[in-house]
Amino acid sequence: MKKFFALLIAALLWTTFPAQVHAVDEDALTARIEEFYSTLPHGEGDYQSRQRPILIQGAMNIETDVLIHALKNPVVYRELNYLFVAGTYKGYPVVVARTEVGLANAAASTALAIRKFNPVAVINQGTAGSHDPNLHVGNIVVGSHSIEVTSFKTTYSPAGSGIDLTQQEMRGAYSFDEASGKFERYSEYHADPTLFNMAFAVANTHENFNVVSGTIGTSDSWLNCVDYINFLHEKYGTSCEEMETCAVAQICHTAGIPFVGIRVISNSALTGEDFSAESATVAQNFVLLVVEDYINKILRASK
Ligand code: SAH
Repeated sequence: MKKFFALLIAALLWTTFPAQVHAVDEDALTARIEEFYSTLPHGEGDYQSRQRPILIQGAMNIETDVLIHALKNPVVYRELNYLFVAGTYKGYPVVVARTEVGLANAAASTALAIRKFNPVAVINQGTAGSHDPNLHVGNIVVGSHSIEVTSFKTTYSPAGSGIDLTQQEMRGAYSFDEASGKFERYSEYHADPTLFNMAFAVANTHENFNVVSGTIGTSDSWLNCVDYINFLHEKYGTSCEEMETCAVAQICHTAGIPFVGIRVISNSALTGEDFSAESATVAQNFVLLVVEDYINKILRASK
C-alpha cells in the first residue's frame, strides 16, 4: 500500500512537471549515458535508409538523453568524435546528434550529419538563458529567427575613451546564397515556415507547454550582465541566448535544408533563476511531439 502511494506521488510529480523544475546530477547522468551508448550497436560505413531522416540536435547529454532513449533500434555513429545516434521514431528514421557546446562544434556536427545522413529537416533544440523578464525556466522559445549576436562592428573610439559595446552595428553571419552563387552576410536566419507552424500547432494542442515565438541570440558567450542582456533584447529583440542555433541555421541555409531552433529557458539573469539541467527534458519532450506531427502531417502525407 505504502509503495502504491509512493508511486502515485511520483507519478503526480512527474505529470505536473514543468511546474516542478528540479536539479539533475550531471556527472552521474553522463556516466550512465556513456555506459548506455557502449551497449548499443556501432554503425560502420554508410548510413542506409529508404527515407531521409529528421536530424534532431542537442549540445549536451542532458539535452539529448530523452531523445536518444525515444529511438527504436538505435545505432551509434561517431564522425570526428561527434556522436550521432540513428534509429526510428514513430516508425520514421530519426538521427539524434550530440553537437557539443558552441558555434564551431554545432556547425561541424551539422555539416558532418548532412553529408552522412542526408536529413530532410534539422531541429536544433536545448537550453537557453532568458532575455525577456516574462520568460522563465521551463518556457519554450520557438525561433522565428536566429542571430549571431557577436557578429558586430563597433564604431571607432580612440584609445583611452573606454569600452562601449552598445555602439555597434550588426554585420551578420555568412552562408551560401543561391541567387548570387556566393557566400553572403545574413543579419538573421529565418525558421522554415512549415516546421515553425508545426511547433505552434503542437503548442496549441498541448497546453502543458508554455510556448512563445522569438528571436534566438547565439554566441560563444554566457552573459550575466543584465544591462548588456537588456541592450540586446531592445536592439535585436532577442528572447533568449545560447551557443548553437544560428551556427546550425547558417549551415542549413547553405545546404538548403529546412531548419528550426527550439529552446527551453533554463536560467535567467533577469529574474535570478539559476541554471536548471532538468529543464532540458521539457524541450526534448516538446520536440518529440513536433517531430511526430511533422512525420505524420508532412513527410507521410507528401508520399
Ligand atoms: N556543463 C557545461 C555547461 C555548458 S552551458 C560547461 O560547464 O561547460 C552552455 C550550453 O548551454 C550551451 O550549449 C548553450 O547553448 C546553453 N545555454 C544555456 N543557457 C545559456 C546562457 N545563459 N548563455 C549561453 N548559453 C546557454
